Amino acid sequence: MKKTIKEIKKRTVNPPCGLCGKSKKPRYKTECCGNWVCGDESEYVMFSYSRDICSRNHRRFTLCGHHNVEEHEDDWRTCKKCREDFEHELEMYVWYGMNEYNFEKLPNPPAFKPTYCSKCGERIILPDGGYSSLCGVYRCDNCPITEKERGEIILEYKSKSQDK
Ligand SMILES: [Zn+2]
Ligand SMILES: [Zn+2]
Ligand SMILES: [Zn+2]
Ligand SMILES: [Zn+2]
Repeated sequence: MKKTIKEIKKRTVNPPCGLCGKSKKPRYKTECCGNWVCGDESEYVMFSYSRDICSRNHRRFTLCGHHNVEEHEDDWRTCKKCREDFEHELEMYVWYGMNEYNFEKLPNPPAFKPTYCSKCGERIILPDGGYSSLCGVYRCDNCPITEKERGEIILEYKSKSQDK
């Protein structure tokens, strides 16, 4: 077989963003996994909840990023500490490991119990937000916790934790 010799031109341009695929914004290598992502966290406007900054999304909303920020050891995919950090909201753990801000997804995500509004029973999708929670009681946005209920929930929580 004849070998074809291709001329490889050296490019000094960074690869496109591994998350959105764009090359418009400046790209940086992530600290956690060495992938190229676009966007500078300093562009983030406080409380804008913007998800346009890929570098921020990866650092803040993935297990890979969380694992690195929290300075855990070993691999995030098998990290017990990461799992413990999300034990009370396993749905978030799965989302952090599986969402579109990941380069590699969590192998064998655990099954989690869905969360329901304690008043109307509506399913609450934790990663989507639009709910409030107090002492493990979840409410959808249509059923905000009233002042009276707030007191009751806290009282019940306290009596439960005393039983233990
Ligand atoms: Zn990007
Ligand atoms: Zn990473
Ligand atoms: Zn970890
Ligand atoms: Zn509700």
